[in-house]
Amino acid sequence: MKILVTGGLGFIGSHTVVELAKANFEIVIVDNLYNSKEDVLEKLEKITGKKFKLYKYDLCNKEKIEEIFKENQIDAVIHFAGYKAVGESVREPLMYYSNNLISTLNLLEVMKKYNVKKFVFSSSATVYGEPKTPKCTENMNRGETTNPYGTTKAMIEKILEDLYASDNSWNITLLRYFNPVGAHESGLIGEEPNGIPNNLMPYIMKVASGKLEKLNIFGNDYPTIDGTGVRDYIHVVDLAKGHVKAIQNAPDGLNIYNLGSGKGISVLELVTTFEKVNNVKVNYQIVDRRPGDIAENYADPSEALKELGWKTEKSIEDICRDAWNYENAEG
Ligand code: NAD
Ligand code: UDP
Repeated sequence: MKILVTGGLGFIGSHTVVELAKANFEIVIVDNLYNSKEDVLEKLEKITGKKFKLYKYDLCNKEKIEEIFKENQIDAVIHFAGYKAVGESVREPLMYYSNNLISTLNLLEVMKKYNVKKFVFSSSATVYGEPKTPKCTENMNRGETTNPYGTTKAMIEKILEDLYASDNSWNITLLRYFNPVGAHESGLIGEEPNGIPNNLMPYIMKVASGKLEKLNIFGNDYPTIDGTGVRDYIHVVDLAKGHVKAIQNAPDGLNIYNLGSGKGISVLELVTTFEKVNNVKVNYQIVDRRPGDIAENYADPSEALKELGWKTEKSIEDICRDAWNYENAEG
């Protein structure tokens, strides 16, 4: 089976290429290198001992997508490509709507033309908005998204539902990721945010390595275990394996799965675990809440276990160790 992985040189896409290769899928990658580097390809080849075909094309160019489908007998598409920075999406909404929606529509139109109807989409827990209960199950309504990035995810989910309603020979899997963190244990691939990170784990690493002075913890007065925000952190390798299971085991139709551990961890718990596992200090101060943040959310991952046979295997300690290992390997 030949799989087109869009955004396959990015953080989650690259780890998924490794797991797909391990499971003996044939892989074609398309990535315009907007948020990734070409040398990731060599690293993927080093980890897997396999070679991959890379198209350095922008998915907003439909003719280029057609070229890929003409040259390769694609059986399924895993669609990671897109812009993902929440803050930037608030400042540059048109850029986000344009890239995330046009690339997806182009891809789906070309898939339709070439009769390729198996599609796995990178969605996000952000589509739950402000959930009524911290534990999110897939049958909860999509909530009010709080930024253009999140809205592109909710819109694409809706587009895919409409597409499936029009033609139920499509097989569509929406994977709602919780908080992907960590890195491959080889230290060769991981997350490389540009500039000052927005997300907690990359920020912790910059502080631990002395590149930033201290972590600002956004609020300690939430109704949580220690007052700091609670999230469901998932090791990127576990997340990558979820995609392999989705390709292998998703039933017919349109299906939605949460990919998370099912366990909430507070900011302070994550900081403390990071310090302990890696024997480093993470300086921090408590500051005001970050606008738009919710107190607590975590996945109910039971559907993914029941239908895909997937659950997380790595611990929060594995996450902290592998993330730090990658940070140090990168120098
Ligand atoms: P990433 O930025 O590391 O990877 C995305 C890749 O897509 C990059 O390599 C980028 O160069 C490429 N790309 C972007 N626009 C493109 C275009 N028009 N044509 C071709 N390539 C293009 O991001 P990631 O963290 O690996 O996330 C992958 C997907 O998962 C994204 O859709 C993201 O929104 C979604 N997601 C990520 C998180 C997270 O916390 N990382 C959480 C939930 C959902
Ligand atoms: N957070 C923090 N300081 C930071 C970044 C994040 O205290 O510099 C907190 C944030 O308030 C939230 C948690 O860490 O409770 C996870 O934030 P992140 O941005 O990584 O993920 P998201 O909020 O999108 O789930």
